[in-house]
Amino acid sequence: MLTFDDGPSSVLPELLDILKQENVPAMFFWQSKLLHPKRPWKRLIQEGHRIGSHTITHPNLTKLDFNAQYRQLAASVKSIEAITGEKVDYFRPPFGQYDENTKRAAEKLGLSVVLWKIASIDWELKDNPQQIVENTVHHLQDKSIILLHELEQTVEALPQLIQSIKQEGYTFQLLP
Ligand SMILES: [Zn+2]
Repeated sequence: MLTFDDGPSSVLPELLDILKQENVPAMFFWQSKLLHPKRPWKRLIQEGHRIGSHTITHPNLTKLDFNAQYRQLAASVKSIEAITGEKVDYFRPPFGQYDENTKRAAEKLGLSVVLWKIASIDWELKDNPQQIVENTVHHLQDKSIILLHELEQTVEALPQLIQSIKQEGYTFQLLP
């Protein structure tokens, strides 16, 4: 499964174009403070992708108490649901950092916590998109969840990344 964190960003339409051309579904974990009604969320859903929560403001949740964590999750889910009309079922903690309070808050809200198996390190590869493909393809396994971001260099690497994964014999799918 491909996952794109930290959007919605201005490169989202280009990501959607590539995913459509390659017929690949993806999960997007959005920061709700970036959620502007003009972002193409409708197209994203119509084309078979899903949106999960990545909090409101991207804090390290382990530095917050239960109530503050709960607010980050609940309010971000509420804003996404208010715009899309679709239920949010998945949550990814910023920096992959979470604790018992995060698990409790997620459970209370009916959210499944989704981490990743393969970090593409795309955020460090502005000048070397090819490395995003290499970081990912060499670590593929069944049911791998791949961490990507809504960034320019990721747009640049994505067609080749998808083709390389397909060439290795894998298919793409979302969580149930
Ligand atoms: Zn993030």
